Amino acid sequence: MPASIYSDNVRSRRTPPKLPEQPSLLSEKNLAFLNMLQESYPDYVFKPGRKFLFRPPKSIYYLESDENFRLLILHELAHALLGHYTFDRSLERLQIERDAWAKTRELCQLHSIPYDDNLAETELNTYRDWVHQKTLCKRCGLSCLEVSSESLYCPFCQKFYKKS
Ligand SMILES: [Zn+2]
Ligand SMILES: [Zn+2]
Repeated sequence: MPASIYSDNVRSRRTPPKLPEQPSLLSEKNLAFLNMLQESYPDYVFKPGRKFLFRPPKSIYYLESDENFRLLILHELAHALLGHYTFDRSLERLQIERDAWAKTRELCQLHSIPYDDNLAETELNTYRDWVHQKTLCKRCGLSCLEVSSESLYCPFCQKFYKKS
């Protein structure tokens, strides 16, 4: 059979270069939501990752298979929209999480997603525990006061500590 440009074109169209296929675990509902978010917030890049995370300045990572997908991705978006780039003090971090959940509630209303108080409380409690652990006096085990970004003060031992 004589070769022709025409038939070559057909063949190349039939065998497009294979892209490595990443099977997405996103449900249709979540994928639609993700696409809507990406359109509504073009300043940010949404990417699959191992957990929900805002990495300043522009990346928002999501865990595809999470049952709270929509709420948690809105939570990371809340961090992004609030400009939560750094936090030095643990108490500040707790406040930052509170603010982000308040913003998440707003975003839920805006995008007609049911807000989940219990999830927010559970998440905040993990931060409360973390903050609490971080501020215990190494000597007596009581809670210290956070006096600066580097130091704690135990009123019982009357001693200053460098934060770990
Ligand atoms: Zn958060
Ligand atoms: Zn102490």
